[in-house]
Amino acid sequence: MPEILEIEYYRQLAEGALDRPIASVFVDEYAGRGGRPGMDPEVVLPGLSFLAADRRGKVLLLETEGPTLGMRFGMTGGLLLDGLAGIDDLRYGPGTYEDRWIRAAVTFADGGALLLHDPRRLGRLIIDPDVDALGPDALSLTLGELRTALASRSAHGGPPLKARLLDQSKIAGIGNLLADEILWRAGIDPTRPCAHLDDGEIRRLHRRTRSVLDQLFERGGSHTGDHMVARFPGGRCPKDGAELFRATVGGRTTYWCPTHQH
Ligand SMILES: [Zn+2]
Repeated sequence: MPEILEIEYYRQLAEGALDRPIASVFVDEYAGRGGRPGMDPEVVLPGLSFLAADRRGKVLLLETEGPTLGMRFGMTGGLLLDGLAGIDDLRYGPGTYEDRWIRAAVTFADGGALLLHDPRRLGRLIIDPDVDALGPDALSLTLGELRTALASRSAHGGPPLKARLLDQSKIAGIGNLLADEILWRAGIDPTRPCAHLDDGEIRRLHRRTRSVLDQLFERGGSHTGDHMVARFPGGRCPKDGAELFRATVGGRTTYWCPTHQH
């Protein structure tokens, strides 16, 4: 599933779509779901140009002189510009390209096109998406923002730490693989109540969040973490050899080490 790093690659790719007049837009019945009434991309975008490619968490934001086009990529969405993919091999889908999986296309007057390729049909194109509902962006997360994101008024210390890291309204951009890698490197148990971390643990979590995002971006994506090799039943911790625990936390399959994650 594309996480913040993949959407950042898409954003960089989309910079090649700037300042090119839009001739026409196609959005299929799936990719168009959830848009604002009267704000169909097919109607409002032709004649305009994208002027800036921005991102908030996992939402790509293409600004025009008028409305902003928001793109979400769901579980398997990939972005292609003029036939080039934003990530090498569309690895979040079945690994292959098929024309029938093109859910949306922005065609430019010069004949090129920006395409949403999405086998699972969960990607969306939305005009002026509500980004205020999203938390601070994970790639620029400050220690203070992390502290705020982990706070809870619940007497039980709030939801499990991993669930809170995945909550896009608290921190925008972290998905399942990045959350497991960050917690594994930070040595913190994903099932602990999020508000029960002490100050040293919050600082360590913040440092690891930054280092994981920086390093995996350089390596090529969310799936390139050190913990990935052990993400299977019976997998052993690459640090200490302990058999990893596996459970559903925050609605997602989670692997963590009972020896060094506390
Ligand atoms: Zn371990």
